[in-house]
Amino acid sequence: MIPDNSPSACAVSPLDLASHPFRAQVRTALEEAVLPHAETWEQQGHIPAEGWRALADAGLFGLAAGGPGFAKSAILLEELGRTGFAGVRAAVSVHAYMASSYIDRFGTVMQQEKYLPAVRTGSRVGALALSEQDAGTALDGITTRAEPDGTGGYRVKGRKLHVANGSQAGFYICLVRLRDIAGRPRTLAGCGLLIIDADTPGVSAHPEPMLGWRAADVCTITLDDVHVPGDRLIGKASRTLSYLMAALDFERLVAGLLAVGGADHCMGVTGAFVRTHRIGEAPLATHQAVRHALADLTAELDLVRAYAHRAVILHTQDRLDTRTASVLKLRATELAVVAARACMQYHGALGYLDDSVPARIYRDAVAGTVTAGASELMRDLIFEAAD
Ligand SMILES: Cc1cc2nc3c(=O)[nH]c(=O)nc-3n(C[C@H](O)[C@H](O)[C@H](O)COP(=O)(O)OP(=O)(O)OC[C@H]3O[C@@H](n4cnc5c(N)ncnc54)[C@H](O)[C@@H]3O)c2cc1C
Repeated sequence: MIPDNSPSACAVSPLDLASHPFRAQVRTALEEAVLPHAETWEQQGHIPAEGWRALADAGLFGLAAGGPGFAKSAILLEELGRTGFAGVRAAVSVHAYMASSYIDRFGTVMQQEKYLPAVRTGSRVGALALSEQDAGTALDGITTRAEPDGTGGYRVKGRKLHVANGSQAGFYICLVRLRDIAGRPRTLAGCGLLIIDADTPGVSAHPEPMLGWRAADVCTITLDDVHVPGDRLIGKASRTLSYLMAALDFERLVAGLLAVGGADHCMGVTGAFVRTHRIGEAPLATHQAVRHALADLTAELDLVRAYAHRAVILHTQDRLDTRTASVLKLRATELAVVAARACMQYHGALGYLDDSVPARIYRDAVAGTVTAGASELMRDLIFEAAD
């Protein structure tokens, strides 16, 4: 699959997004490059090097993170969600969008030339290292420090938590404190974003086995007096807050699209089951309580998907705002949890088996309302933007 990112090939409306022919191409590519391997990757806890190469060969890393070309990325993200493996979708989206977009959007030409071609070939996996012990929802508590080393570079010390692609990454986009601001121990002023190569002495990754997202390779990253050249600072340190704000809105958009696809997959699994599983002589779907519950979820999914496509169009026009991104992220990830709960319930004990599909869907869905900003933070942002 060769991506065509030319403006004429990419111009879309929300309606086109649903029926765009690219969707069928992506679905086929994911059926070949992901579905036969995803269970193994879940058990291994990461996507191995040959998996990353196969995903790249399928053309999945060459799509645009902004502008009209993002419409195709949006289709890819939704379809990644529809694979039903949130660990895989997280790994791929962090690599191809959430981490690499910092370099793509705010990086220097040197940084773009050094890192982005390797992102596209899958030979260098990207990871995003923002979170710390005291910096999750409130990122201003960052304590990882980058001290000047006297040669224009930095010596970095700290510990980053919950980093997807942690052990397989070739580089981390790392939020660090560059200088203290007098009287303001908790502030993002004085912070910067560094690209840190994973093979630099002093960098080590320690797996953090999680309830779900098992293929996402979530790790703690220890940075023990790591030397980072000065040319790995992304953009201007004084603009870090504005980079983060734009990137976090983008992250919420990506998370929302993935969750829409995930909820769609879940509804498909549930719908197929209730139509065939019998209670006594009648399929479960003959019960009105079940039909109406699934109809409500289907209606909600249709609305959230339409909203997601509107958000995509705004992003392609560089007009995505915090309110839209937060509404999408909140409603899509919360819907995925409600749908996963229904999927478990209607499968009965079969759904509660540890290796069952409903169990995976459920444990994957509940992470969605925490990562990329907890639902409570989304509500705060929506409330503030509604002034
Ligand atoms: C599977 C997974 C993958 C992840 N991958 C990455 C990654 O690749 N890179 C990275 O940097 N980070 C990653 N994270 C971390 C993620 O970004 C954080 O978990 C998230 O920002 C929330 O921070 P926290 O976990 O420290 O929770 P906290 O900030 O400690 O919040 C705990 C809980 O408090 C509640 N809460 C928070 N704020 C409010 C509020 N304003 N009002 C009311 N209640 C509130 C919420 O219920 C929240 O879940 C990942 C996390 C998970 C679970």
